[in-house]
Amino acid sequence: MCTSNFQPMKMKPVLVNPEFQDPILAVPIPQKSEMLLFDLGYCFRLKIRDIQKISKIFITHTHIDHFAGFDHILRLSIDMKKTISIYGPPGFIGNVQGKLSGYYWNLKDSINLNYDVFEIHRDKMLRKRFRARDGYINDNLPEVIPWDINDPIAETDDYSVYTVFLEHRMPVLGYKIKADDSYNADKSAMDSMNLSPGKWVGELKKRLQNDLPDNDEIEIDGKKYNAGKLLKKLIKKSPGHVITYVVDTIFNKKTAGPLKNFVSGSDYFFCECAYLTSERELARRNYHLTARQAGTIAKEGEVKTLIPFHFSRRYEGKYHKLYEEVREVFPNVEKAKTYL
Ligand SMILES: [Zn+2]
Ligand SMILES: [Zn+2]
Repeated sequence: MCTSNFQPMKMKPVLVNPEFQDPILAVPIPQKSEMLLFDLGYCFRLKIRDIQKISKIFITHTHIDHFAGFDHILRLSIDMKKTISIYGPPGFIGNVQGKLSGYYWNLKDSINLNYDVFEIHRDKMLRKRFRARDGYINDNLPEVIPWDINDPIAETDDYSVYTVFLEHRMPVLGYKIKADDSYNADKSAMDSMNLSPGKWVGELKKRLQNDLPDNDEIEIDGKKYNAGKLLKKLIKKSPGHVITYVVDTIFNKKTAGPLKNFVSGSDYFFCECAYLTSERELARRNYHLTARQAGTIAKEGEVKTLIPFHFSRRYEGKYHKLYEEVREVFPNVEKAKTYL
């Protein structure tokens, strides 16, 4: 985990479609021309300028409502010179390979769009690169990347992305994006020491970033201070914003514990609410969550805000019942912000 951010990074996640349509969560990275997508259902609402910012795509599983948009993104990115990293569960490399091999690439010399495909297993990641200049053909064995389930699957200077294995009669991945912690000077502590803001604040923060020794001295207005003591007194940590994304899983003895731990402390918890409790048997048979179960996960994980989505179409005209049921268990529910 990097600690290089000095300003709190507040991510503003939006669902691309209304909560009863195909799931896609878009997470723009503040102050960066970068967009992350979680799942890729029907995505014709996505603006081209946002599609062009996509750097990474995280797929929970390849049921068609979560992956049908791949071709649309491919089509609208094809003139770009970049590599998109795309992550998914066991079997995923074959799924992406199948999509890419469905087209004829004889004009490949003018294409510069590449895919870096990561297939996540419980104890390792497999990676395979598909390059336009090879006509997206790669018959080599995938590279094996040693990896532990507690480690991030993707990491930059701004954020880290984690995953959890869930159960949908097939492995499904839940995802969590955590912005890096930020560090800010405490104004009242500064006042109490009669210190005014200056370049030295930035220097002090840089010590955190570079792990410089605490016993160093720092000069402020001609006076020397112990950097370690000053750091402890003046620089406050703001924990990074956390967004979790969970869809298409059964809630049972095997998944309840991992789900609770995974969502724990999230600022925003996007969770499927496919069925009402009155149809919990159907939810169990289809390996989906009920609204009550989503609320229970949010409550036990002590999340700040639950955003229900991925409703079954059977509740058309009465989606409010899903909100009502989830609120009975967990009151802090917000309606998803959707993409315009
Ligand atoms: Zn599914
Ligand atoms: Zn689904």
